[in-house]
Amino acid sequence: MSVDESNKYSIEFYPPRTAEGETKLDAVHEKLAQLNPDFFSVTYGAGGSTKQGTQQIVLRYSARGSNVAPHLSFGGTDDEEVRTLLAAYKEAGINRLVALRGDLPSGAASHHRFASELVNFIRQETGDHFHIDVACYPESHPDSTSYDADVEFFKLKVDAGANSAITQYFYNSDAYFRFVDYCQGKGIDVPIVPGIMPITNYENLSRFSQNCGAEIPRWLRNRLEGFGDKKEDLREFGIEVVTALCDNLLDGGAPGLHFYSMNLAGSVTRIWNNLALSER
Ligand code: FAD
Repeated sequence: MSVDESNKYSIEFYPPRTAEGETKLDAVHEKLAQLNPDFFSVTYGAGGSTKQGTQQIVLRYSARGSNVAPHLSFGGTDDEEVRTLLAAYKEAGINRLVALRGDLPSGAASHHRFASELVNFIRQETGDHFHIDVACYPESHPDSTSYDADVEFFKLKVDAGANSAITQYFYNSDAYFRFVDYCQGKGIDVPIVPGIMPITNYENLSRFSQNCGAEIPRWLRNRLEGFGDKKEDLREFGIEVVTALCDNLLDGGAPGLHFYSMNLAGSVTRIWNNLALSER
């Protein structure tokens, strides 16, 4: 299956846990849909959100005319649950998925299946129907034993049939460019799209980064800490820093950008417009 070159700029949501959150997300989706992203993606079981929530949001925004890619993982459940979801998505005209191992809910014992096994399973069940994205880590996945092993396991996902990849977020573009070179050297030839995390709240960003192994460079951490309670100033600074990062990535040949919106429209819209992505 060839990769659709037009699929360059995408925006990620997570399924809200409350009715109020859903109403807010509907408004955010409506605003962000005006930017005409190539697709939205919706996380699966991340941050304690329900799996049913993913399917509902995917089908709702798809019915409103957006291209939507559900995230999917085995996540400790049986094959049948994944098979049922694949059939429902196919039936609804969904043709793109983000396949992940997923993170376990706290208290769960162990992971029983890696993302490469899920990619294999999707290909076995549905052939070439879905364009499959997988995750990769320019600064290495926190569980990985070495940089090289992490890239080898990324390659397993591509060899199993992934069409493209989205990275964990980072604020150091050298980490991305070096990673892409290294992957290409290992024979990984799919587009590797940088995942972009807008900076809107320092405490949350710091916590996420700790958990997922993304580095906030010391200079940036110091600047962000310096804003204290001036949240609006921090957001403005974040927009400036992340716009420059994206510009640098695109100038250096990144094949697109995937925005982790955190269900907020403001910073994504500003960065998108600063970069004129709708025309780029
Ligand atoms: P894998 O590719 O399976 O890798 C996981 C770890 O195992 C890595 O350290 C890898 O090096 C190692 N490994 C892989 N294969 C093997 C093997 N055969 N033998 C030994 N070790 C191996 N989480 C969610 O819960 N829901 C989401 O919707 C979600 N969306 C995400 C979207 C993106 C773009 C990204 C970057 C992450 C997302 N995550 C999500 C987080 C992700 O699930 C976690 O980072 C998870 O810990 C790893 O998922 P993976 O698919 O990269 O796993």
